[in-house]
Amino acid sequence: MLLPTREAMVFLKILPMNGGNGKSSYANNSLLQKKMILEVRPFLEDSIKDAFSSGIPSCVKLADLGCSSGPNALSAISEIIHTIHGMSKRMNCKSPEFQVFLNDLPGNDFNNIFSLLPDFNEKLTKEEDDTLGHCFITGVPGSFYSRIFPSRSLDFVHSSCSVHWLSQAPAGLEKNKGHIYIANGSPPTVIQAYTNQFQRDFSLFLGLRSEEIKPAGRMVITIIGRSMEDPSGGECCDIWELLAESLTDMLAEGLIEEADLNSFNIPIYNPSEGEVRAVVQEEGSFNLDKIESFEASWDPFDDSDKYRGAENVANYVRSITEPTLKSHFGGAVIGNLFGRYADHLAKHLLMEKGKYFFMVISLTKK
Ligand code: SAH
Repeated sequence: MLLPTREAMVFLKILPMNGGNGKSSYANNSLLQKKMILEVRPFLEDSIKDAFSSGIPSCVKLADLGCSSGPNALSAISEIIHTIHGMSKRMNCKSPEFQVFLNDLPGNDFNNIFSLLPDFNEKLTKEEDDTLGHCFITGVPGSFYSRIFPSRSLDFVHSSCSVHWLSQAPAGLEKNKGHIYIANGSPPTVIQAYTNQFQRDFSLFLGLRSEEIKPAGRMVITIIGRSMEDPSGGECCDIWELLAESLTDMLAEGLIEEADLNSFNIPIYNPSEGEVRAVVQEEGSFNLDKIESFEASWDPFDDSDKYRGAENVANYVRSITEPTLKSHFGGAVIGNLFGRYADHLAKHLLMEKGKYFFMVISLTKK
């Protein structure tokens, strides 16, 4: 039997979400993330008002990091533009122009977003009045774990549901056999590997943004985290453990290779509030102005039928993981895998309600 190589463990390819507008596309399976954007609206609005209270630049430079494709990519941006435009009217000054940068990994379906721009522009002109300044939208392909903007060029950065994605699956997960994330009872080395990777990545992320954001510029980031201190507590691990169980069933039937399962670990980490605060403080470039947390049901439709609820969850997990799973296990397993996953999810949802804990933070560049 083939043993997973160190390279396979470390260089699992992170691929963007499913593009297009098809049944399994991110565009059609992102209600959960849409609800998060809606829920943090008042928080975002407060941060913007605070950020621009002493003046609005003639051209506001905004970035959305990990924008993906589909309607969510533009919904927070229109909210930000609306708030700043409203402020400029109340301050009796000319509306600024807006330069908007939409960032995601290079394989992201940017064409899908670009095709939404005519409608977006029309809606903006309808909803705002004709005093609204021009709005220029640009796609920025690249990892937010690298420099993606010139020095001191941005006024405001937004990111929703993206920064809990790590730059890579951590190295040192050889003992995580049969699991694809931290699981209940994972050995301490596995938990340590994930927490170290998060600390390194989040610190790198802050350092890079601190070079790109103007002094006193803001950043509002929403991530899926966890409410409990123990990283192996069920709350954020169950959703992945149920996928691991589905893969294990397939291994037992000879449908996937053991080495492939053992070398697959999901490059995500759900930090606690304490971990987020500690990295911000230690990295030192930003003040943490505010942090709030919310809960969201796994099933964004909150369907009372748990089997339909399970399908809903399986559909969006598929839309965010399919390209990465395909490149690791091969495309032939995907339909079968997500059918089993829906069954495991249904059994779980019949016993307990699956919930996410998410956090939104506002940071100001020192
Ligand atoms: N903000 C969108 C999408 C969230 S899905 C929404 O709220 O609906 C998470 C997105 O983060 C995906 O599109 C994924 O490709 C992107 N992402 C993950 N890691 C990234 C990285 N290192 N750099 C840029 N984008 C990344």
